[in-house]
Amino acid sequence: PPVLEFRDVWFGYDRARPVLRGISFAVPSCGHVALVGPSGAGKSTIFALAERFYEPDHGRVLLRGRLLPYARHRAVVGLVEQDCPLLAGTLRENLLYGAGPAGDDDLTRVLAMTGLIPVVAALPRGLDTPVGERGGRLSGGQRQRVAIARCLLSRPEVILLDEPTAHLDPDGERALAAALREVARVCALVVIAHRFSTVRSADRVLVVDDGVVAADGTHEELLRSS
Ligand code: ADP
Ligand code: ADP
Repeated sequence: PPVLEFRDVWFGYDRARPVLRGISFAVPSCGHVALVGPSGAGKSTIFALAERFYEPDHGRVLLRGRLLPYARHRAVVGLVEQDCPLLAGTLRENLLYGAGPAGDDDLTRVLAMTGLIPVVAALPRGLDTPVGERGGRLSGGQRQRVAIARCLLSRPEVILLDEPTAHLDPDGERALAAALREVARVCALVVIAHRFSTVRSADRVLVVDDGVVAADGTHEELLRSS
């Protein structure tokens, strides 16, 4: 069964006004799905239900075909938030925060996947460099990749990623796309995509509009039908 599946999910913050109106889709293992659509369409709400921050009013959110207990569900689904704030502390502390037990091998593995090995090497004290409350030493794109690396350490089967729109320069965007290609080899990705480059690198694109899946296909299929 798919790693994550929405089956006819309805949800409203106010039950009288549903925001999601029968959302169905399935994310295969190691699949990379992009969610696109206008602001207010329901993309963030889909994420909130995927991580079980809210439960559906109707329909189901399943992992591997099953409704798991809440804590098990949360262990399978990782979330990378949009602003990726860093904690006061070193880069190592930031990576290990909330990650559970992890050795140096694990750190090296996730840093390699996210393209951060050269970034760490360039810091004065490597992993033990204080990166500061606001992560002043790291660019927005690097902070994003630190957040992805941290998420990977807890070994989720699917990562939800709300792409930052504002902070990435072309180099940062390329580095993020490369990191996502690597990450997609070990787990599934669902990305709220604002940028064309991220949409293009997904294997499937869901167009969400006014609480329904208005289109679902590869990027080429959607271009042909529009
Ligand atoms: P984005 O377009 O990046 O998804 P939004 O502007 O839609 O951002 O939402 C920003 C935040 O405000 C989100 O956390 C969302 O849940 C919350 N939000 C959006 N609309 C409302 C609303 N009508 N009432 C309360 N919170 C809202
Ligand atoms: P998107 O991520 O596609 O921009 P959202 O899921 O943030 O869309 O929002 C979908 C709808 O739900 C919008 O009308 C938004 O105002 C509303 N909404 C989002 N979050 C909240 C919230 N916390 N409380 C009430 N309404 C919300």
